[in-house]
Amino acid sequence: MPTPSALVCVRCGARYPVDHYAHDCPACRSAGAPANLTVAYDSLPGEGLDQERPPHRPGSMWRWDDFLHAPAADAVSLGEGNTPLLPAPSLGLGDLWIKDESRNPTWSFKDRLGSAALTMARRFGAKVVASSSSGNAGAAAAAYAAKAGLPCVVFTFVGSAGPLVLQMQAYGAMVVKVADKTERWRLQSAGVREFGWYPTSPFFGPVVGSNPYGMEGYKTIAYEIAETFDWQPPDWCVLPVCYGDALYGMWKGFQELSALGWTKRTPRFVAAEVSGSLPTALASGDAMPPVMARNAQSIAISIGAAQGTVQALEVLRKSGGQAVTIGDDELRRWLVTLASKEGIWPEASSVAPFAAIERLRADGKIAPRERCVALLTAAGLKDPAPIGKSLPEPPLVSGGLREVMAALRNSYGFADG
Ligand SMILES: [Zn+2]
Repeated sequence: MPTPSALVCVRCGARYPVDHYAHDCPACRSAGAPANLTVAYDSLPGEGLDQERPPHRPGSMWRWDDFLHAPAADAVSLGEGNTPLLPAPSLGLGDLWIKDESRNPTWSFKDRLGSAALTMARRFGAKVVASSSSGNAGAAAAAYAAKAGLPCVVFTFVGSAGPLVLQMQAYGAMVVKVADKTERWRLQSAGVREFGWYPTSPFFGPVVGSNPYGMEGYKTIAYEIAETFDWQPPDWCVLPVCYGDALYGMWKGFQELSALGWTKRTPRFVAAEVSGSLPTALASGDAMPPVMARNAQSIAISIGAAQGTVQALEVLRKSGGQAVTIGDDELRRWLVTLASKEGIWPEASSVAPFAAIERLRADGKIAPRERCVALLTAAGLKDPAPIGKSLPEPPLVSGGLREVMAALRNSYGFADG
């Protein structure tokens, strides 16, 4: 099993001590392109494993502990990972598969980050865990802190989705709201600095990404996808992107499989986002994605940031990827389409990849025969408002079947008997 030997800057490669997790790379920050750190190991992750017999126990992402920063026996786990990879032929988007992360314990992909981060919080002897989150990351931090027996403080903001705040509080987290989003970071930073709170989320600006140990959890999405496809990675992985934690983690996971010789290539990555920041940076070649106010009030609350990160840009550049800016009309259309045609109802941000694939297929940037995997990040019940506005009020009926059929015809356009 590999042992973490350093935290390494995702941009310049500078090395920092393994307990430097509450900071970014000082060299890149002073160069105007603040960059996250990622875990480096003393040996190749997965080295010595038999590809023909990949690990099958325990029943969580920790079966891949030969690639991770802690042994499964020490993990704070709720059975996260091992999510289904489902074909989606009815969507008209070619060879497309959905990695459905809404099946995780708190119904989002952030459980991989929560599990990986809380495992490390306990190893570092943390007394309190802290997260700044509008939703999924806070819910995951809260649930895994509960499992670890650690108090959890979540800073959120006025306007975050009610069910998500309720979910955090249900797990026992102490949730506080602030009026201005950026205030969360000032307060969490003070808690980290003065009280030693263990941060699982971003907590200073410009944002670089989440806790490096937490991000290791996202590597397991890549392992699961590659294993399901018999070690033939898809041509493209398409993700809803805010700060690009999962984007970076998945890319890193595929890189590791390639380094082991288990796979022959790494997929290209697409960031489906709402601000326009990453497409602008890709086009300009700048080191730092710009702040873009466009569509800041998107219904895709989970990816509502106005500025992309260096780590996301690194993956797009290194993988030969694309970035696509998605609007609310496309999100609403794909929400209804996905739920009614494939039986999967995700939160609004999770359908951004489908809108992106539609556009990239039409532009010829994704070739007709190329295989895509869309990462579906979280469940629809966490924020039901966006789809609710697209659906009719259920008709009230009285009388007999004739009245029922009239109601079905009027409200739903149903003509058959
Ligand atoms: Zn650096």
